[in-house]
Amino acid sequence: RPPRRPIVAGNWKLNPPTRSEAVTLLRLLVANFVNHRDGNEYPDDDDASDGPEVVIFPPLPYLSDAIRILEGSGILVGAQDCGMHDGGAYTGEVAPSMLLSMGCSYVLLGHSERRVHFGETDASINMALRGCLDVPGLRVVLCVGETLEEYENGMLERVIDEQLSGCLNNVDASAILRDGRVVIAYEPVWAIGTGLVATPSQAQAAHAAILNSLSRVLRCTAGEVSDGAIRIIYGGSVTPDTVLGIMDMPDVDGALVGGASLNADSFTRIYDGT
Ligand code: PEP
Repeated sequence: RPPRRPIVAGNWKLNPPTRSEAVTLLRLLVANFVNHRDGNEYPDDDDASDGPEVVIFPPLPYLSDAIRILEGSGILVGAQDCGMHDGGAYTGEVAPSMLLSMGCSYVLLGHSERRVHFGETDASINMALRGCLDVPGLRVVLCVGETLEEYENGMLERVIDEQLSGCLNNVDASAILRDGRVVIAYEPVWAIGTGLVATPSQAQAAHAAILNSLSRVLRCTAGEVSDGAIRIIYGGSVTPDTVLGIMDMPDVDGALVGGASLNADSFTRIYDGT
């Protein structure tokens, strides 16, 4: 496969509890990343494309602080979810275009916590994803992954295939393969927040299954998928100690980090390993 820029993404979930704690964490992240840069270990903004892409997903109320504080740091900001409508009588919803206009680069969609606790389905995720792709400049991290029961019953491939075909229904393949606007996050439900990280070979097998499923879902050849700009990242209890083995796998293009992204030093060390 052609070289792909790695991504390290931090999902803060519903944390931290107050704005002042969020601001402290954001400032610590800036300090860490600027220190790296000044030590010449990391690229400056002008040639940031040489290093891994870094994105954090704070809760909505902290997005504008994140965008302001991280400006010029090279760290991008995304929202943890969004609605499927672009405006109108939809109280409580957030439109993809609003997120782009405030400075968000990414939207996280289909996280298993959204599916389990808030009733999101492949069909509703698909509507939100298409809404995001209608907004030029906005990119998506789409989460897929199986439960422990499904894994133990040998259903990984089938679950991934079902989720990808539902979530990517009627999506223009070129947005994914040519423009790389959708990053797939493989997040086995059994590994999220449990401390049970997938082994590097488990992650590799699932990422290979994702590539295989994409050619069916996008109606193209395996070669078109593997030559495409698609990036697949692993999420589930990633720590500074486990990231290296996982990143060594040929089809792992980065990490989606939950718990460990709430500690600026751990998150920076995970960046070091990507
Ligand atoms: C996540 O929330 O996407 C995640 C991977 O969480 P954790 O790293 O805490 O397992």
